[in-house]
Amino acid sequence: MVSMNASSAERTSAVPPLSAKIVEPTIFDLSSPGRVGVRMPESDVPAADSPPPHLLRSELPLPELAEVDVVRHYVRLSKFNYSVDSGFYPLGSCTMKYNPKINEDTCRLPGFLFTHPLQPIETVQGNLALMYQLQEWLKEIAGFAGVTLQPAAGAHGEFTGVLMMRAYHKSRGDDKRVKMLIPDAAHGTNPASVGMMGMTVVTIPSDDRGNVDLKKLEEACDDTVVGMMLTNPNTLGMFDEHVEKVIALVHGCGGLMYGDGANLNALLGIVRPGDLGFDVMHFNLHKTFAVPHGGGGPGVGPVGVGPKLVDFLPEPLVGIVEEGDDDGTPPLYGFVKPAKTIGRMKAFHGHFGGGFVRSFTYIAMHGPDGLKDIAQYAVLNANYLQARLRDTYHIPFDRICMHEFVMEGQFEGSDVRALDISKRLMDYNFHPPTNYFPLIVHEALMIEPTETENKDTLDAFADALIKIAEEAKSTPEIVKSAPNDTLFGRMDEVKAARELVLCCWLPEGYDLS
Ligand SMILES: *Cc1c(COP(=O)(O)O)cnc(C)c1O
Repeated sequence: MVSMNASSAERTSAVPPLSAKIVEPTIFDLSSPGRVGVRMPESDVPAADSPPPHLLRSELPLPELAEVDVVRHYVRLSKFNYSVDSGFYPLGSCTMKYNPKINEDTCRLPGFLFTHPLQPIETVQGNLALMYQLQEWLKEIAGFAGVTLQPAAGAHGEFTGVLMMRAYHKSRGDDKRVKMLIPDAAHGTNPASVGMMGMTVVTIPSDDRGNVDLKKLEEACDDTVVGMMLTNPNTLGMFDEHVEKVIALVHGCGGLMYGDGANLNALLGIVRPGDLGFDVMHFNLHKTFAVPHGGGGPGVGPVGVGPKLVDFLPEPLVGIVEEGDDDGTPPLYGFVKPAKTIGRMKAFHGHFGGGFVRSFTYIAMHGPDGLKDIAQYAVLNANYLQARLRDTYHIPFDRICMHEFVMEGQFEGSDVRALDISKRLMDYNFHPPTNYFPLIVHEALMIEPTETENKDTLDAFADALIKIAEEAKSTPEIVKSAPNDTLFGRMDEVKAARELVLCCWLPEGYDLS
């Protein structure tokens, strides 16, 4: 039984429900000795030896339940979740678009589902053909000479890309390059990827139109620069108005240009980063190409490179090892090794079924014109929302945006903050936008509607935000105590981060403190 300490009416009152304690039964509470959900067949092979006694734990019981109890327990828990299949999810920079269900059909085709990466290549030609075609499509979409599908997500793609940049400079005997230029609007993974390699991060400020400050960039460019990592459009949703100058400055001092491709959704079919002069870029298939994601994963982070870096790509790539012929003999796909490869970035070949097959399906279903539509509707939707909210919320970088925009979640004379607004949106059944990022906007609320939302949804969301702005004046306590209508009240987020409890059940004798 779900038991709550306060009725819904009480929880909408001014008392912040910080101490709300909801007792949820765990799967162990539901356990009853002797109840079973499976019946094992008699073993027809000799029993194997048990692991040595010191590796066995006697204090680790297993819950005993029937299948139906387990299904109901987890389905009930799943209903407490919010997802893009249940509502609007405007989480900026994350591109939480609706994921078409045909992707689920294709990635479960038995020929894909039941293959193993150690099978002989003659038996997985379909899988390899799909990977090859996906590499080719990504090259074409973003204007690159080569693509690796290996990296497990965007951040891993960044690490892969920066490793290639370093290998490129080293291969030319250019050992003094240690500095990476990163704009102040960048996602935190950019400096983190660079820091992991012991390089120095030099922060480049944005100008008052949300572009890279060209003067500051020029001052930072010298012969110790590895390159620059630029997100374009950036996390303010602004397309850099001088992107070609920025790239020319970085190239001019011998650096390489890294593109953080997380915002590619705004550019599909319109601008190709490779054509602009980017030397390397990661794709987030889970953002742009409809692989479901959330809670930190799973991701797929292919990396595309221009001619300078193509020899440094991770091995193996999927290639054609024997050409087909006109009589209908298909080519033989296999694995190839780039001449100066940085090595392997992941066990096996990357996230095949859950990632490559879904994105392949998505690209194939849309085709070139459909991809272009995605970018145009994503940009249109963001601009529509921005226009509807402009009079109510302050938008510090207020010009035509790309697929997302950032506004301030604060009002003069009110102590309502961005966090309160986000929490209150949950009472209106919307997922909150991204909060407090990018760091250069006070009380940032970063909103990315994506192309998959219709005008009714956008209007309902704008109406809710306008209503919350009114509440911030008339009944601020209702905003500050939100969420009031969710199963759990407002969390102590600092405590949740500092005293992380990953399971709700602990073996007897375990103490958390
Ligand atoms: C999401 C994101 C990343 C990191 O990608 P992951 O796939 O989450 O590792 C990097 N930069 C930007 C701008 C992003 O939005």
